[in-house]
Amino acid sequence: MHLESLGWDASFADEFRPFEHDGLAPARVAVEHRSEYVVYSQHGELRAELTGRLRHGDEHPAVGDWVAVAPRPDEGRATIHAVLPRRSAFVRKVAWAETKPQVVAANVDVAFVVAGLDLNYNVRRIERYLTLAWESGAQPVVLLTKADLCEDVESRVYEVESVAFGVPVHPVSAPHGDGVDTVRSYVPPGRTAALLGSSGVGKSTLVNALVGTELLAVREIREDGRGRHTTSHRQLVPLPEGGLVLDTPGMRELQLWDADSGIEAAFQDLESLAAECRFADCAHRREPGCAVRAALANGTLEMERFESWRKLQRELERLAMKQDARARSESRKERARFARSMRKTSY
Ligand code: GDP
Ligand code: ZN
Repeated sequence: MHLESLGWDASFADEFRPFEHDGLAPARVAVEHRSEYVVYSQHGELRAELTGRLRHGDEHPAVGDWVAVAPRPDEGRATIHAVLPRRSAFVRKVAWAETKPQVVAANVDVAFVVAGLDLNYNVRRIERYLTLAWESGAQPVVLLTKADLCEDVESRVYEVESVAFGVPVHPVSAPHGDGVDTVRSYVPPGRTAALLGSSGVGKSTLVNALVGTELLAVREIREDGRGRHTTSHRQLVPLPEGGLVLDTPGMRELQLWDADSGIEAAFQDLESLAAECRFADCAHRREPGCAVRAALANGTLEMERFESWRKLQRELERLAMKQDARARSESRKERARFARSMRKTSY
């Protein structure tokens, strides 16, 4: 296994320098289970566990992360000592059972926003997935699957391009092999791609077309000693011609409200219009000197796009409010704990 073909480069090597002296080696996280990892390393695939310090800390490795490991190649195992700084990350901010933001994928270079050109086609949804992609720091590319089911592919591509600001847009029909080579050209050796998009749009079909086999089948990993079997598959899939595709359950569950600052990149036109409004806190309703209303009136801005921007903003506000409420209740608990401890000591 060559580190370079796994995405290792000079800047990761720089980040790794502090760990070189401790007999540690670089490795990349390929699979994440609840308590166990699989990493790719110079010694091949190793099953890995976290040091106690990492286990109890906040910064758990995610699939795609580069980590510093103490390898035990004879056992096929390693211990993960540190996570190198991430170049990009997909973060799940809220799932009702969880309190902390959770990194679901790291160091993705290309984020394929996948949408189908069938009856479920919806340019607003593409806009929102693009927001997520921008937010991660990866380079977005839109893939319009099921092109074989669409009468007028060209005008769809044009429509998506008009909301996607310099993001490449490609139609594909994976079962027929159309456009798959173009998709592959974004994932040369050393590059990592991930797929974003609703269920059923054709992400698995695309991954299988890239890999060239029905590779996303299950694979068995034997649990040491206990003789228990865990079914699992790789979540960072090496492609035959180099490059990697990251495909994890967490990535598939990413919700649209995980977008935040990405909204600015995805709605550049609206953000820059809003910056021209006379009032900095313009709500774009009836304020004088509202550039957004003016653009709506003269037809340079589409009402649907404006509404989709507003809707996304409202969702983000609601989310922020929920997080505030949680923070308030945490600090209430904290104060109560403090008050209790004070009472105890005064007795
Ligand atoms: P995922 O949930 O995003 O992984 O979607 P799948 O890859 O499982 O695909 C969902 C369905 O769409 C399957 O029945 C695929 O055969 C079908 N499908 C995927 N890509 C295409 C395509 O390009 N053209 C057509 N006609 N069907 C497709
Ligand atoms: Zn305004």
